[in-house]
Amino acid sequence: MADVILVVEDEVSLQETLVYNLKKQGYEAEAVGDGPSAIETARRLKPDLILLDIMLPGMDGFEVCRILRNEISTPVLMLTARDDEIDRVVGLEVGADDYLTKPFSMRELIARVKAMLRRVRIIRDELNASQIESVDKLILDFGNLRIDVGRREVKIDQKIVNLKPKEYELLFYFAKHKNQVLSRDQILESVWGWDYVGDSRTVDVHVRWIREKIEIEPANPRRIITVRGAGYRFEG
Ligand code: CA
Repeated sequence: MADVILVVEDEVSLQETLVYNLKKQGYEAEAVGDGPSAIETARRLKPDLILLDIMLPGMDGFEVCRILRNEISTPVLMLTARDDEIDRVVGLEVGADDYLTKPFSMRELIARVKAMLRRVRIIRDELNASQIESVDKLILDFGNLRIDVGRREVKIDQKIVNLKPKEYELLFYFAKHKNQVLSRDQILESVWGWDYVGDSRTVDVHVRWIREKIEIEPANPRRIITVRGAGYRFEG
């Protein structure tokens, strides 16, 4: 099935060029030219990727991105024209995943689109389908513990858990391998990389930190279980 891309651009000639080139690459593309239609269409279409211009009639791209971020985790590629816009996008104030500065070549754009879609696909493939509440949202649901993969956000009872990047990666790795016994070496290699200089105590320390944040009783864990002589098992 072809990936669906929503193009939000009010300059008619650029909008047409974008749609033409995306379709030529085999994508399905739908285009709108103002902020409110962007939101309405994104909700209905649930695209795989959104190309979002910033200066738009009705509501600007920043506002569109901010609103959609609370609903879907579809990757957003911002199309920026001015330096002050780039500052806001790069500052991740709005939650865009990437940006391209106008003017850009269609080759550049297609390369960026492919890279972003590839990233999403890898995450989806890695996940156990049964744990995904909805592929559009890429949320892993373990009862009151929820991992929003698109936003790299973990919540317990709707409240955000502050995890350091490696803690998040480790928890995400556990989540992808629910109920499997994972050895410390296996975890080190997958989460830290084969060339990581350190020992398996790194894993133990991070597990302890995560437990303190997600377990009701960190000393008596129910989610990340220690399997003696073997490693750890995530039970969800
Ligand atoms: Ca514009």
